Parts: sequence; C-alpha cells; structure tokens
Amino acid sequence: MYELLLIRYGEIGTKGKNRHMFEQRLRANMEKALQGLDVAGVERAHTRFYVELNQDARDIIARLQKVFGIASMSPVKRVGLDEAHITEAAVQIMDDILARQTDQNGRKRTFKVETHRPNKSFPLTSPEVSRNLGAELLKEFPQLAVDVHTPELRLEVEIRDRFAYVYTERIPGPGGLPVGVSGKAVLLLSGGIDSPAAGHLMMKRGVEPLAVHFHSPPFTSERSREKVLDLARQLAGPGGVIPVHVVHFTEIQKALNLHCPPKLLMTVMRRFMLRIAEAIAESKGAMALITGESLGQVASQTMASLLATGHVVRLPVFRPLIGFDKLEIIELAKQIGTYDISIQPYEDCCTIFVPRHPETQPDLIDVETAEAKMPIDELIQEALERTEVVLCGKD
Ligand code: ATP
Ligand code: MG
Repeated sequence: MYELLLIRYGEIGTKGKNRHMFEQRLRANMEKALQGLDVAGVERAHTRFYVELNQDARDIIARLQKVFGIASMSPVKRVGLDEAHITEAAVQIMDDILARQTDQNGRKRTFKVETHRPNKSFPLTSPEVSRNLGAELLKEFPQLAVDVHTPELRLEVEIRDRFAYVYTERIPGPGGLPVGVSGKAVLLLSGGIDSPAAGHLMMKRGVEPLAVHFHSPPFTSERSREKVLDLARQLAGPGGVIPVHVVHFTEIQKALNLHCPPKLLMTVMRRFMLRIAEAIAESKGAMALITGESLGQVASQTMASLLATGHVVRLPVFRPLIGFDKLEIIELAKQIGTYDISIQPYEDCCTIFVPRHPETQPDLIDVETAEAKMPIDELIQEALERTEVVLCGKD
C-alpha cells in the first residue's frame, strides 16, 4: 500500500552546526535499530528522513518508536508533481481505509484534506489543491462527508520539490534527542525499579549511557547480576549497546561493616559508589553520573543524605527522578519494559548489611570521621581492578 515511511524530527535546538550532528546521529541510530529487517536504508531529504517499506511497516514502526529524536512518522505514498497522480494516490488510500471499516449504519465518515506546499512553483495554491482533491474524493466515495473542524480522517498532501506525498496517519515517535548527541554519562544501575527509569529519561535527552553495577559475591548471586544485565539490554533498545561495568564491591562492603557506625553505613557506601562511578566516568570520557534517586523516598535520599553523598564527586550527578512519586516511576518502568525485570526478587548489595535505622540527617563531619578509618584509595583501586565490562545489547 505505502512505499515509504516519512520520519519527522523535532527541530528545536537543532540549528546551525548542531543540526548536522543531530541528523547524522539520528540516522545512525535508526539504521542500527532497523538492522536485521529488510530495509534498503534511510534517506534524508529536506529536514525529513524516509525509509523504503519493502515489508510490513508495523515492524519498522515498532522499532523506530524506540529511537529518541523522532517526533512522528507517517506511511506515505510518493507520487509525481501533478494533480492526477495526487488524486490517484488519495483514492487508493481512502479505498483501503474504507474497505477495512466496519458497518457505519449508513452514517457517513467525515474527512478533511490538508495541503502543505513548500514548493511555491507548483501551479496551484494549497487551498486549491485541497478543494479539488476533496471534491474528487466526494465523487468517488459517497460514504464520505467533509468536516473541516473535527474530521475523523485527515488526508494530508505535501508538495515538495520533486515529489508530492500523500498520507493520513501521524504516528507519534518517542520525542527527545538522539542518543549520543549530548555526550556520555555513567548510570549507576541497581536491580531496582528506579535506576533503569532514570537511565531512560537521560537517554531521551541524548545521553549515551554506560552503566556501573556494584555486586558483592557471594552475598549477591549470579542471578542478581544477570538481572542487571537484562535491564541494561532492555534499556539499550533495538540496535543499541550499553557497556555494564560490574564492580566487585565485596571487600568494600566488608570494610564498611567493620569500620563504619551502622547508622552511617548507607551514606558511606553511597560515597564509595559515587567515587568509583566517577573514576570510571573519567576513564571513559563521560561527563556526568546518573542515579535513580527520588527526594525523600528512603533514608539515603533526603536532602542531607544527597548532600553528604554528592560531596565526594566533582562531576554533576543527574537525578531525573528527583521529583517523581514512586507510582509515577512504576508507571514509567512499565512503559519502557523494565518493570517486570526489576521486580524479580534477587538481592542487591544495598539490601545486605543494611542497618534497620539508617541516619536520615547524616552530618558531613561524622561521615568523614567514620571514613577516615578506612583505606579509601586502596579499596577503590582494588574494586576498579576487579571490574568486568559486559556489553549488553546488540553488537
Ligand atoms: P533502585 O530502584 O534504582 O534500586 P532504590 O529506591 O532502591 O532505587 P537505593 O537502593 O537507595 O534506591 O539506590 C539509590 C540509587 O543508587 C539507585 O537508583 C542507583 O542509581 C544507585 N544504586 C544503588 N544500588 C546500586 C548498585 N548495586 N549498583 C549500582 N548502582 C546502585
Ligand atoms: Mg536499589
């Protein structure tokens, strides 16, 4: 039915030099997402992309709906620049829609033609094209009626330099910026519900994530590590890859248990996590850290706790869920397909050795005093040396 899929992207923030980078990255991300499907390639023409549809458009659309930067998509018919061809395409599209329609009990279906004409050398104006085409469609299909205010069907015609495009559907894309255009950041990825959702939101702003996961064998199992890798695969999306740095955290946990007052253990543990994440970020050219923290959710996420933990790093810590309620986070996790993985019941390193009453207002001096008893640099060095990198997603 349709030869092409027209892909629109948001143009805000994509002026000048940025625009070129934005387009190149979006195109590369789309091509990666479409790998394995019978797709000839992605072509670009005047602030749009087109993908040839040789096979079922639904597979292609389903994958592209996960590619950030795409504003919307329309399956289109592309025809020569004359009214006869435009009408012929419009009739075919309407015919197809009306043939699939269930009985309307004699009620007419309403429609409207909308014409966009960037090509000003086309001999007819937009209103003329719309009017003529509307009249042809009414002649052809007695079951149609025009409604210019609230039509059930909107038939759009775009008249461009070499071709005209005819379509009815606008399928929303995920919006945002193409992954990669904003640079890299390190996502602290636990097996919980929050951190994958936080990663998703930052990817939507163009961040290319690399993940860090802290695990503490034998206190945490192989299955809990696998679960985190599954989360990273889901987050990577079609064609994407997220490297997960699995950090051996056992020795640090043991040292914490030995030296740290139980009330401050959580705070000091987070400080170790952030320091290690920052070291990995710096070695990989990443410019920020990302966590799934949400203000007030637990003791380690009060303002005083965030202050005490964030204090040890120089890089900005992005906490995109800071103002989200848990229910909103769950909703988002369900939408992005990480929820069902996250709720699998495997232990996390944070859930072992954790005191029943952690400090909600940790004092920076107390925290630093507690830490002073520990060989911080050696512990971090050792954990970094025992880090394994797993590439998650399609390579
Ligand atoms: P989540 O659902 O992300 O686990 P949570 O509400 O359980 O969040 P915490 O356990 O307090 O929160 O962790 C806060 C943040 O610290 C997490 O969102 C994550 O970014 C990071 N974090 C916690 N545990 C780990 C871990 N084992 N490895 C990597 N990052 C972690
Ligand atoms: Mg957690």
